[in-house]
This record gives sequence, C-alpha cells and structure tokens, in this order.
Amino acid sequence: MSDLWRYPFLPDARKAVQGLELETLLDDPLCGEARALAIERLNAAISDSLDELGAPVDARDEETYLLSFLFSRLILSAQADSKVINWVALTEALRAEATLNLETAAVLVHVSEQLGVPVKMVGKSFQVDYTVYLTATKNLRTGRWKLVNRGVVDGKVMLDQRTLVRVLREIVVEHLQSLPELPEGLGRKVLERFSPDMEVMQEMAKERQERALRELGRLDFGKAPPCFNGHLIDLQAGVNLPHPARFFLTTFLTALGQEPDGIMELYATAPDFKESVTRYQVEHITGKISNAEYDTPSCSSLISQGVCPGGNALCRQIVHPLSYYRVMAEREKPDDVRRERLALIAGSGSAKFWAHLPLDAPDDAPPRSLAAALDADGPSRVTAQVEHFRGIGTKVDDKYICWASARLVDDTVERSLETLPLLQWEWTLPLAHAKERGEEVEVTLLPVKLGEQRRLHVLAAG
Ligand code: SF4
Repeated sequence: MSDLWRYPFLPDARKAVQGLELETLLDDPLCGEARALAIERLNAAISDSLDELGAPVDARDEETYLLSFLFSRLILSAQADSKVINWVALTEALRAEATLNLETAAVLVHVSEQLGVPVKMVGKSFQVDYTVYLTATKNLRTGRWKLVNRGVVDGKVMLDQRTLVRVLREIVVEHLQSLPELPEGLGRKVLERFSPDMEVMQEMAKERQERALRELGRLDFGKAPPCFNGHLIDLQAGVNLPHPARFFLTTFLTALGQEPDGIMELYATAPDFKESVTRYQVEHITGKISNAEYDTPSCSSLISQGVCPGGNALCRQIVHPLSYYRVMAEREKPDDVRRERLALIAGSGSAKFWAHLPLDAPDDAPPRSLAAALDADGPSRVTAQVEHFRGIGTKVDDKYICWASARLVDDTVERSLETLPLLQWEWTLPLAHAKERGEEVEVTLLPVKLGEQRRLHVLAAG
C-alpha cells in the first residue's frame, strides 16, 4: 500500500521502520528531522491543525514521517498527560476518518484488515462477520449501531463505506490512546530530552480546552452556581468526574442552549475520555439520539448524589441550579424592570425616587469612610463590615424574587445602616461571604432617603 504515512498507526507502517533501535535514534543526529517532526505533529494535533503539516516529498521523507510518529508515541507515553493524549488521539483519528472516506474500496479493505476488522466487498458494501462487528463497535451503543438494527444474514453484517470508516475511527482512537509502556531508562531519557516541548504541549492542550469553553457561546460562567463551576474546574484539571456530575453538567449546559458537539469537547481532557462513549452519553442526555431530553436535576437530587459542593447564600434561596443562573442574570434586565423590581420589594418610595435611582457604579467613585460617604453627593467606595445579612425569597404579584438585605458599619459611624433591597447577587454574594467570615468588604454605595429612612444603595461590591 502506498501513502502509508497517512496511516502511521497501521502494522504495515510499523514494519516499514522495523528494526530501528529507538533509544539509540533518540540521540542520532541523522534523526533530528524526525524528532522535530514528531513535536510538530503533536503540536498540530493538539491545536487541531494537522492539515497544515504537509506531505512527504519522496520515499526517504515518508520514512521520516513514519519515524516521527514512533517518536511522538514515545513522547506521549513518557509524558503520560491524559489531556494531551486525548486531544492527539481525537484529532489524529478524525483526520484518518476524513482521509479514509476518500479512499478506494480496495484500500479500505486493506486498512480494515490491518486494524483487525477483515471485510469483504459485496457489491458496493462491506461484509463483516457479526462477532468482529460486535467487538469493533463495543463503544458505539446507539440504536443504529445495535446488531438488531443492522440486519444480520448468515452471521454477516453489511456496512456502507461511511459506516465502516466510522467504525475504523473508533479503533484508531483506542489504539492511539493505548500507549506502550516504556522501560524506566527510556522513559527518563525521553523526558529529559523533550521536557521543554512537553511544557508547550501542555499549555496548548490547556488553550484548546479554554477554546472549547469559549465556543460554548453565550454562557456566562460568572452566573453559574458553585456545583457547576467547581466540577468544570475539576474537569479542566483532568479529574475524572463521576457519572452524576457529568450528567448534571451536560443537562445544565443543554438547558442553557449549548450544542452537543460543544459539550463533548469539554470532556475531551478527562483522563478516561472515550470519544464514542462520551458522544453517546452527551447525545443521549441531550435528546439528540433519544426520545427524551433529560432535565437538569434539582438541588435536592444533586445534594443526595454528592454533586453539590455546599451552596452559598443564593443557593439557600433557590431549589434548582438553573434558578441560580436566572437570578444571577438580574443585571441583564432592562433598567426600568430592575427599578420596578426594587420598588416592589422595598414597598415604599415615590415613583420619582425609583425612576432616578442610579443602577450602576461609576468607575471613579472616591474612597471614603462610611460617615463621609453619608454626607457625599455621589457614590463612594467604602470599606465596611457587614453587621447583618439576610437572604430572602419573596413572591410579589406572581413573581418570585430572590433578594437580600444587609446592614453595614465602620468605625466612623455609631450605628450600622441598612441597604436598599439587594437584587444583584454578584454584589450580594461578596457581602454574604464577608459576613460569614467576619471580614471587611469594599462596596460602592450611594446614600439615599427612602421616605424618612436613610438607606445605603449598593452599586457594586467585592
Ligand atoms: S445548592 Fe443547588 S445550585 Fe447551589 S451548589 Fe448546591 S446544587 Fe448547586
């Protein structure tokens, strides 16, 4: 078979460079090009730019390509970083799939054989023994992959070209993820030689993970509850999340309008990442391949499953993580709606008072003591103690509003002063944390008069 460099994971490709002593070649000046190409190949796979690698120009160049693949396996094995391994395996397998889809039937028959899936051409289809099919599709469990939906005749299953190639992609991913165990001396040598390159790869894998997060679109992580952000951080750090945590993340993201493909990418850095299994789980949960789209579990379910890490002051006012996200979106409401909600909760104050109430903090509010802030005409930045904090959920005119009230004090005033209702929880949570920890907190506030009462209008905190 020509063009072996396109499929360096095949036994044929390994044979082409058989007999080479890799430990010796690690230091051989003649192999410098292959070593450099190995790094280039890994970097390109991690950053999803394998197409930019180019093609060998002659037989000698092709051997360099094949050798570089072996070096890349050594590097991945010595590095043992699941994030890097998963991205490389996924990108290489997707590329192989794209290339195989353009191959002739004869090449496909040969590649399948090499990958342990012997097939026979029957007309335009590929015939495979059902036992081989079952082994090859063990990770593909959706309806169309089930044997009963494939129509077994005389122990044989018929596959079209695309389906066969999809099965082969599974095998390639699995092969690329299972790396050879290196003898201790060789592993140490590889680490010594390539550690600066490995650091770059880890950085690139991190960037790709961040890109996957950015590509989640309109999602605002600042509004997500602790259960979501905590597990997301774990996922990025390469922690294997238990199934209930993955189920929660997937349903939560789906409820916020994220697509299965974007969600899938998030899991690619998990140490136990199996593309097909993850795709199946994500597509099943999101309803893409099932009749049911699963709902995001409630807080009580997440608490009983050990997914809730312990809530914060806002969590105590809600019963569902999606409510948390919605409450945190207060600032996105139109100003007149925000003012109306404040007035509803306060229950007093003239229409003129609420209509002119500023809602956002200026960037240049000067720092003042609380006493000086009370005499100032405009907003001030004050470092204060939270003497009292209370989160409240109130139903007003069929609307359930989560809000809080606090009393602030510093040593320049005799008595603490009460805030206007706090509806913006990105300001409110820092006040709650400060109260819980007995710490001071910096707030931007405006003194106001609500009827006869002096109140503090908090415009920012934390
Ligand atoms: S209480 Fe609910 S929203 Fe808050 S962290 Fe726990 S599960 Fe998440």
